[in-house]
Amino acid sequence: MPAYVGRFAPSPSGPLHFGSLLAAVGSYLRARNLGGQWLVRMEDIDPPREVPGAATTILHQLEQYGLHWDGSVRYQSQQNERYEAILAQLYEQRLSYHCDCPRKRIKAVGGIYDRHCRNLAKPAEDCAVRLVNQHGCHQFNDLLLGQIETDSAFASEDFILKRRDGLYAYQLAVVVDDHDQGITEIVRGNDLLEPTVRQISLYHTLNWQTPSFLHLPLAINVDGNKLSKQNHAPALDSTNVSHTMATALDLLGQPLPAELNKAPVAEQLNYAVAAFELTRVPTTRQLAAPCR
Ligand SMILES: [Zn+2]
Repeated sequence: MPAYVGRFAPSPSGPLHFGSLLAAVGSYLRARNLGGQWLVRMEDIDPPREVPGAATTILHQLEQYGLHWDGSVRYQSQQNERYEAILAQLYEQRLSYHCDCPRKRIKAVGGIYDRHCRNLAKPAEDCAVRLVNQHGCHQFNDLLLGQIETDSAFASEDFILKRRDGLYAYQLAVVVDDHDQGITEIVRGNDLLEPTVRQISLYHTLNWQTPSFLHLPLAINVDGNKLSKQNHAPALDSTNVSHTMATALDLLGQPLPAELNKAPVAEQLNYAVAAFELTRVPTTRQLAAPCR
């Protein structure tokens, strides 16, 4: 068994909000409690969605909250050569193909791609790259939620590895990076539960060791919507850090003793790392976040 390596992988489309703090703290506690490493990676492969300076802000926020990472931060935007090498390898092995089907046509066949271009040997120009999905993963074990079943058509779809506009698909980048960084367990919000089956398919296709998965509950606002940048969740409080950390730990089922509620975050985290118990993390899919 390799030593535990966990990670937090935000996309720099804005500063961290309370929902992203939950994922960061959850993955941090799990890694540190097991004596493992905790890495940080910037998922900056979607330039149109990125906000200048957000990556720096996020790293500053993590430090402010006492979430210190190991090693240097990896940036997906610097891994293009690596992604291209994997794409070339898959194409060589006839495990990928080019597709220029318009979204409209896929919608018309029910929204799941029907492998129309799989054997048409289309040229690379103006095409997306799709995986020949021979390892449809219909279920997997989540360390918190147990057995997860997925829609089988979705699970066996020939999904996109590189978009027609030239951007790398999240599924490709995340699998290559997690593999390259030696991640042994992925702890993240359960908004990423569904794509997990696609990532597992890709691990199997590439013959790579699949990490374990643990999906944390998501913070929702008073309207029942996920706290997200799209929903304009406010940036993480930078003035009341100990209070916010105590709230996050509470929601993750790891409450602090009263005397630590206002302690410096380093003290709070020291306690929470030692006391962390996975069985106390709520298995509900959503958690009502405090009004923020
Ligand atoms: Zn096609």
